[in-house]
Amino acid sequence: QAKRQGAGSVAIYDAAEELLIREQRQERLEIADALQRDEFQLFYQPQVDLKTRRVIGVEALIRWQHPQRGLLPPAAFLPLVAGCELEITLGEWVINAALKQLMRWKSSGIDVPVSINISPQHLLHPGFITQFQSLLESFPGLPPGLLALEILESATLDDTQAALAVLEECRRLRVDVALDDFGTGYSSLAYFRHLPVQLIKVDRDFVRDMLVNEDDKAIVESVVFLARKFSRAVLAEGVETMAHAEALVDLGCFLAQGYGIARPMPAADFPVWLEEWQAAQ
Ligand code: C2E
Ligand code: MG
Ligand code: MG
Ligand code: MG
Repeated sequence: QAKRQGAGSVAIYDAAEELLIREQRQERLEIADALQRDEFQLFYQPQVDLKTRRVIGVEALIRWQHPQRGLLPPAAFLPLVAGCELEITLGEWVINAALKQLMRWKSSGIDVPVSINISPQHLLHPGFITQFQSLLESFPGLPPGLLALEILESATLDDTQAALAVLEECRRLRVDVALDDFGTGYSSLAYFRHLPVQLIKVDRDFVRDMLVNEDDKAIVESVVFLARKFSRAVLAEGVETMAHAEALVDLGCFLAQGYGIARPMPAADFPVWLEEWQAAQ
């Protein structure tokens, strides 16, 4: 009796599990198809120096131009590929697309550094450096120093040794690395001094509330202080208003990115934005 019941509950669990797995498989197939049909697109968001007003780079942010559902943000589809082979495939597509765009801008006289988000899974994939290097080599004439990777703090925590090795390789390839969403992870603040990263990006949640919340302001202030102490550049993300920009400048944080400066835009819009930005200075 007990045995039969046990078997029954396993069967019910299996049915629900199977449905979920089938749905996920369906969604991943759709994403793989979308890749084939070239429905993914990179938007670019400017990063500026508030003091000199110089544009220091652009961050590539993936979008899915879905035939029925319209333009989808990464949160709508990246979680679906997390942990499977498709995550790597999509990551490689992103690197390739960003490099293509970088070269296109370069040949039209715009030398703008491009930064790319790399998922922890992709960064720590055993083939990452080999793949990355051969992608870089497929763009002869790529000027060094124009490409940067943005990685999450969490990527460096799960397997510190592996992460360090990859970051050292990036440095050898003369690719800068930024630590994204800084402050949201669980590492001690002193931990990052061992990491070969050139830029710290203060998470936008802290920046958003820094004008109304003393704690958030203190966090931003501490990160800026720490970055300076350890000779790293620091950039605030999520700068939505002039008041935010002014408060950041007061704290000594000059690099910024956010809707208050520019929203992420299609590549074709960037030269126009750049010209207007430069004309306004
Ligand atoms: P992230 O790397 O921290 O990127 C910044 C996110 O904040 C972007 O959202 C950007 O559109 C948004 N943002 C920028 N300024 C503001 C602002 O002033 N206010 C607010 N509320 N938001 C602002 P997005 O494009 O939806 O991307 C979300 C996240 O998805 C990214 O966070 C990144 O972790 C991930 N992601 C985006 N593109 C890629 C990609 O190509 N590969 C990988 N692996 N992850 C990506
Ligand atoms: Mg980022
Ligand atoms: Mg970020
Ligand atoms: Mg973020």
